[in-house]
Amino acid sequence: MSQASNSYRGRLAPSPTGLLHIGHARTFWMAAQRAIERQGKLILRNEDLDPQRSRPEFAAAMIEDLRWLGIRWSEGPDCGGPYAPYSQSERRDCYLEAWRRLRDGGFIYPCTCSRKDLAQAATAPNDNDDEPVYPGRCRTRTDAGQFVEPAGVNWRLRVGAGEEIAFDDLNLGAQRYVAGRDFGDFLVWRRDDVPAYQLAVVVDDVAMRITEVVRGADLLKSTARQLLLIRALEYPTPEYFHCELVRDASGVRLAKRQDGLSIRGLRESGLSANKVLQMACQ
Ligand code: GLU
Repeated sequence: MSQASNSYRGRLAPSPTGLLHIGHARTFWMAAQRAIERQGKLILRNEDLDPQRSRPEFAAAMIEDLRWLGIRWSEGPDCGGPYAPYSQSERRDCYLEAWRRLRDGGFIYPCTCSRKDLAQAATAPNDNDDEPVYPGRCRTRTDAGQFVEPAGVNWRLRVGAGEEIAFDDLNLGAQRYVAGRDFGDFLVWRRDDVPAYQLAVVVDDVAMRITEVVRGADLLKSTARQLLLIRALEYPTPEYFHCELVRDASGVRLAKRQDGLSIRGLRESGLSANKVLQMACQ
Protein backbone atom coordinates (compact mmCIF):
# COMPACT_ATOMS: atom_id res chain seq x y z
CA MET A 1 0.00 0.00 0.00
CA SER A 2 1.63 3.27 -0.93
CA GLN A 3 0.69 6.50 0.76
CA ALA A 4 1.72 10.11 0.86
CA SER A 5 4.27 10.30 3.66
CA ASN A 6 2.25 12.55 5.95
CA SER A 7 -0.71 10.19 5.91
CA TYR A 8 1.43 7.73 7.87
CA ARG A 9 -0.24 6.59 11.08
CA GLY A 10 1.69 4.37 13.43
CA ARG A 11 0.84 3.14 16.88
CA LEU A 12 2.24 2.19 20.25
CA ALA A 13 0.12 -0.61 21.70
CA PRO A 14 1.37 -1.59 25.16
CA SER A 15 -0.60 -3.89 27.47
CA PRO A 16 -0.76 -2.65 31.08
CA THR A 17 -0.08 -6.09 32.55
CA GLY A 18 3.33 -5.20 33.97
CA LEU A 19 6.07 -2.61 33.70
CA LEU A 20 7.47 -1.87 30.25
CA HIS A 21 10.85 -3.51 29.70
CA ILE A 22 13.82 -2.82 27.51
CA GLY A 23 12.33 -4.77 24.59
CA HIS A 24 9.37 -2.38 24.59
CA ALA A 25 11.79 0.54 24.60
CA ARG A 26 13.31 -0.71 21.37
CA THR A 27 9.99 -1.35 19.60
CA PHE A 28 8.36 1.86 20.72
CA TRP A 29 11.42 3.99 19.98
CA MET A 30 11.53 2.49 16.49
CA ALA A 31 7.79 3.14 16.02
CA ALA A 32 8.28 6.75 17.13
CA GLN A 33 11.26 7.31 14.80
CA ARG A 34 9.41 5.87 11.82
CA ALA A 35 6.46 8.18 12.42
CA ILE A 36 8.75 11.22 12.76
CA GLU A 37 10.75 10.37 9.63
CA ARG A 38 7.53 10.09 7.65
CA GLN A 39 6.04 13.24 9.18
CA GLY A 40 3.18 11.05 10.27
CA LYS A 41 1.15 10.61 13.42
CA LEU A 42 1.74 8.30 16.32
CA ILE A 43 -1.17 6.90 18.31
CA LEU A 44 -1.00 5.43 21.79
CA ARG A 45 -3.46 2.62 22.44
CA ASN A 46 -3.90 1.16 25.89
CA GLU A 47 -4.40 -2.59 25.34
CA ASP A 48 -6.17 -3.24 28.62
CA LEU A 49 -8.33 -5.93 27.06
CA ASP A 50 -8.02 -8.55 29.75
CA PRO A 51 -9.72 -7.33 32.93
CA GLN A 52 -7.99 -10.01 34.98
CA ARG A 53 -4.46 -9.02 34.00
CA SER A 54 -4.64 -5.28 33.30
CA ARG A 55 -4.09 -2.73 36.06
CA PRO A 56 -4.63 1.03 35.97
CA GLU A 57 -1.35 1.59 37.80
CA PHE A 58 0.55 -0.15 34.98
CA ALA A 59 -1.32 1.95 32.41
CA ALA A 60 -0.22 5.11 34.26
CA ALA A 61 3.34 3.76 34.54
CA MET A 62 3.61 2.97 30.84
CA ILE A 63 2.56 6.48 29.87
CA GLU A 64 5.08 7.96 32.26
CA ASP A 65 7.89 5.63 31.12
CA LEU A 66 7.24 6.32 27.44
CA ARG A 67 7.35 10.06 28.09
CA TRP A 68 10.53 9.69 30.11
CA LEU A 69 12.13 7.93 27.13
CA GLY A 70 11.25 10.98 25.04
CA ILE A 71 8.49 9.35 23.00
CA ARG A 72 5.58 11.62 22.02
CA TRP A 73 2.21 10.81 20.50
CA SER A 74 -0.65 12.94 19.28
CA GLU A 75 -3.64 10.71 20.03
CA GLY A 76 -4.15 8.48 23.02
CA PRO A 77 -6.07 7.77 26.22
CA ASP A 78 -4.34 10.70 27.93
CA CYS A 79 -4.94 13.30 25.21
CA GLY A 80 -7.95 12.04 23.21
CA GLY A 81 -8.26 12.29 19.45
CA PRO A 82 -10.63 11.64 16.55
CA TYR A 83 -10.77 7.87 17.01
CA ALA A 84 -11.37 7.76 20.78
CA PRO A 85 -11.68 5.85 22.99
CA TYR A 86 -8.04 4.71 22.95
CA SER A 87 -8.36 2.09 25.71
CA GLN A 88 -9.47 -1.35 24.58
CA SER A 89 -11.62 -1.84 27.68
CA GLU A 90 -13.89 0.90 26.31
CA ARG A 91 -14.12 -0.43 22.75
CA ARG A 92 -16.27 -3.50 23.22
CA ASP A 93 -18.94 -2.38 20.74
CA CYS A 94 -16.39 -2.28 17.91
CA TYR A 95 -15.25 -5.83 18.70
CA LEU A 96 -18.84 -7.05 18.94
CA GLU A 97 -19.63 -5.67 15.53
CA ALA A 98 -16.67 -7.54 14.05
CA TRP A 99 -17.72 -10.71 15.87
CA ARG A 100 -21.18 -10.42 14.29
CA ARG A 101 -19.69 -10.00 10.83
CA LEU A 102 -17.49 -13.04 11.29
CA ARG A 103 -20.43 -15.06 12.60
CA ASP A 104 -22.70 -13.98 9.74
CA GLY A 105 -20.01 -14.72 7.17
CA GLY A 106 -19.51 -18.25 8.54
CA PHE A 107 -15.86 -17.62 9.41
CA ILE A 108 -16.03 -18.53 13.09
CA TYR A 109 -17.55 -21.32 15.14
CA PRO A 110 -18.43 -21.85 18.78
CA CYS A 111 -16.06 -24.16 20.59
CA THR A 112 -16.81 -25.89 23.87
CA CYS A 113 -13.49 -27.70 24.24
CA SER A 114 -11.84 -26.76 27.50
CA ARG A 115 -8.38 -25.40 26.81
CA LYS A 116 -5.58 -24.33 29.07
CA ASP A 117 -4.60 -21.61 26.61
CA LEU A 118 -7.90 -19.87 27.24
CA ALA A 119 -6.47 -17.64 29.90
CA GLN A 120 -3.87 -16.34 27.47
CA ALA A 121 -5.99 -15.45 24.49
CA ALA A 122 -6.51 -11.81 25.38
CA THR A 123 -2.77 -11.29 25.52
CA ALA A 124 -0.49 -11.13 22.51
CA PRO A 125 1.15 -14.55 22.23
CA ASN A 126 4.91 -14.45 21.84
CA ASP A 127 7.43 -17.14 20.84
CA ASN A 128 7.26 -19.17 24.00
CA ASP A 129 3.63 -19.06 25.04
CA ASP A 130 1.89 -19.35 21.72
CA GLU A 131 -1.60 -20.84 21.53
CA PRO A 132 -1.31 -24.58 20.69
CA VAL A 133 -2.70 -25.75 17.33
CA TYR A 134 -6.37 -26.53 17.92
CA PRO A 135 -7.12 -30.18 17.00
CA GLY A 136 -10.47 -29.23 15.47
CA ARG A 137 -13.16 -31.14 17.38
CA CYS A 138 -15.74 -28.30 17.10
CA ARG A 139 -14.81 -26.95 13.67
CA THR A 140 -17.64 -28.68 11.83
CA ARG A 141 -20.30 -27.13 14.07
CA THR A 142 -22.90 -25.24 12.10
CA ASP A 143 -24.85 -23.57 14.91
CA ALA A 144 -22.98 -20.24 14.97
CA GLY A 145 -26.05 -18.41 13.67
CA GLN A 146 -28.04 -19.39 16.74
CA PHE A 147 -25.86 -17.24 19.00
CA VAL A 148 -26.97 -13.64 19.43
CA GLU A 149 -23.95 -12.84 21.56
CA PRO A 150 -20.53 -14.43 21.98
CA ALA A 151 -20.51 -15.07 25.77
CA GLY A 152 -20.50 -18.59 27.15
CA VAL A 153 -18.43 -20.45 24.54
CA ASN A 154 -15.08 -19.88 22.88
CA TRP A 155 -15.10 -18.65 19.29
CA ARG A 156 -12.47 -19.73 16.79
CA LEU A 157 -11.62 -18.66 13.27
CA ARG A 158 -11.68 -21.60 10.88
CA VAL A 159 -8.32 -21.54 9.05
CA GLY A 160 -7.69 -23.38 5.81
CA ALA A 161 -5.39 -26.31 6.63
CA GLY A 162 -2.26 -26.02 4.49
CA GLU A 163 -3.01 -22.49 3.30
CA GLU A 164 0.13 -20.41 2.94
CA ILE A 165 0.12 -16.92 4.41
CA ALA A 166 2.93 -14.80 3.03
CA PHE A 167 3.78 -11.17 3.62
CA ASP A 168 6.70 -8.82 3.13
CA ASP A 169 7.94 -7.38 6.36
CA LEU A 170 9.55 -3.96 5.95
CA ASN A 171 12.36 -4.92 8.32
CA LEU A 172 12.71 -8.70 8.16
CA GLY A 173 11.75 -9.35 4.54
CA ALA A 174 9.63 -12.17 3.15
CA GLN A 175 7.67 -14.15 5.73
CA ARG A 176 5.73 -17.33 5.16
CA TYR A 177 3.48 -19.35 7.46
CA VAL A 178 1.28 -22.34 6.89
CA ALA A 179 -2.15 -22.44 8.50
CA GLY A 180 -2.86 -25.69 10.28
CA ARG A 181 0.86 -26.23 10.87
CA ASP A 182 2.23 -22.99 12.34
CA PHE A 183 -1.07 -22.18 14.02
CA GLY A 184 -4.56 -23.64 14.03
CA ASP A 185 -8.10 -22.32 14.40
CA PHE A 186 -7.34 -19.53 16.81
CA LEU A 187 -9.49 -17.84 19.41
CA VAL A 188 -11.27 -14.64 18.52
CA TRP A 189 -13.49 -14.45 21.61
CA ARG A 190 -13.14 -16.13 24.98
CA ARG A 191 -15.89 -17.96 26.76
CA ASP A 192 -15.62 -15.52 29.69
CA ASP A 193 -16.74 -12.85 27.21
CA VAL A 194 -13.39 -11.19 26.59
CA PRO A 195 -12.45 -10.58 22.94
CA ALA A 196 -9.14 -12.17 21.99
CA TYR A 197 -6.05 -10.07 21.29
CA GLN A 198 -6.02 -11.06 17.58
CA LEU A 199 -9.49 -9.72 16.94
CA ALA A 200 -9.19 -6.57 19.05
CA VAL A 201 -5.93 -5.45 17.48
CA VAL A 202 -7.19 -5.90 13.90
CA VAL A 203 -10.41 -4.02 14.66
CA ASP A 204 -8.57 -1.18 16.38
CA ASP A 205 -5.87 -0.81 13.76
CA VAL A 206 -8.45 -0.32 11.04
CA ALA A 207 -10.72 1.89 13.19
CA MET A 208 -7.74 4.11 14.06
CA ARG A 209 -6.59 4.22 10.41
CA ILE A 210 -3.20 2.70 11.19
CA THR A 211 -1.09 2.46 8.05
CA GLU A 212 1.96 0.72 9.53
CA VAL A 213 2.18 -1.71 12.44
CA VAL A 214 5.55 -1.70 14.23
CA ARG A 215 5.83 -4.55 16.72
CA GLY A 216 8.29 -7.12 18.08
CA ALA A 217 9.34 -10.14 16.03
CA ASP A 218 7.72 -12.36 18.69
CA LEU A 219 4.41 -11.39 17.06
CA LEU A 220 5.24 -12.47 13.48
CA LYS A 221 2.96 -15.47 13.70
CA SER A 222 0.20 -13.31 15.14
CA THR A 223 0.53 -11.05 12.12
CA ALA A 224 -0.11 -14.08 9.90
CA ARG A 225 -3.24 -14.87 11.89
CA GLN A 226 -4.36 -11.27 11.74
CA LEU A 227 -4.02 -11.25 7.95
CA LEU A 228 -6.68 -13.98 7.85
CA LEU A 229 -8.99 -11.90 10.02
CA ILE A 230 -8.34 -8.82 7.91
CA ARG A 231 -9.29 -10.78 4.80
CA ALA A 232 -12.45 -12.19 6.39
CA LEU A 233 -13.53 -8.74 7.56
CA GLU A 234 -12.57 -7.15 4.23
CA TYR A 235 -10.37 -4.57 5.94
CA PRO A 236 -7.44 -2.77 4.31
CA THR A 237 -4.06 -4.33 5.14
CA PRO A 238 -1.48 -2.14 6.89
CA GLU A 239 2.27 -2.45 6.31
CA TYR A 240 4.29 -4.36 8.90
CA PHE A 241 7.68 -3.66 10.46
CA HIS A 242 8.77 -6.27 13.01
CA CYS A 243 11.67 -5.32 15.28
CA GLU A 244 14.36 -7.80 16.27
CA LEU A 245 14.06 -8.85 19.90
CA VAL A 246 16.51 -7.58 22.48
CA ARG A 247 18.62 -10.46 23.82
CA ASP A 248 21.40 -10.69 26.37
CA ALA A 249 24.89 -12.04 25.62
CA SER A 250 23.68 -15.63 26.05
CA GLY A 251 20.75 -15.13 23.68
CA VAL A 252 17.99 -14.98 26.31
CA ARG A 253 15.24 -12.52 25.47
CA LEU A 254 15.54 -9.63 27.88
CA ALA A 255 11.75 -9.45 28.08
CA LYS A 256 11.86 -12.87 29.73
CA ARG A 257 14.30 -11.88 32.45
CA GLN A 258 12.94 -10.57 35.67
CA ASP A 259 16.09 -8.95 37.00
CA GLY A 260 15.41 -5.26 36.92
CA LEU A 261 15.32 -4.69 33.18
CA SER A 262 12.13 -2.74 33.36
CA ILE A 263 12.54 0.78 32.01
CA ARG A 264 11.53 2.01 35.43
CA GLY A 265 14.07 -0.17 37.22
CA LEU A 266 16.86 1.04 34.96
CA ARG A 267 15.78 4.63 35.47
CA GLU A 268 15.70 4.21 39.24
CA SER A 269 19.18 2.75 39.15
CA GLY A 270 20.31 6.13 37.80
CA LEU A 271 20.55 5.49 34.04
CA SER A 272 19.58 8.29 31.67
CA ALA A 273 16.91 7.83 29.01
CA ASN A 274 19.66 8.00 26.37
CA LYS A 275 21.58 5.20 28.01
CA VAL A 276 18.47 3.01 28.25
CA LEU A 277 17.74 3.63 24.56
CA GLN A 278 21.33 2.82 23.71
CA MET A 279 21.03 -0.52 25.54
CA ALA A 280 17.70 -1.21 23.85
CA CYS A 281 18.75 -0.35 20.34
CA GLN A 282 22.31 -1.71 20.19
N1 GLU B 1 -0.31 -5.25 23.23
C1 GLU B 1 0.62 -6.15 22.63
C2 GLU B 1 1.78 -6.41 23.55
O1 GLU B 1 2.00 -5.69 24.48
C3 GLU B 1 1.19 -5.68 21.31
C4 GLU B 1 0.16 -5.49 20.32
C5 GLU B 1 0.60 -5.33 18.90
O2 GLU B 1 1.65 -4.78 18.59
O3 GLU B 1 -0.18 -5.75 18.11
O4 GLU B 1 2.51 -7.35 23.36
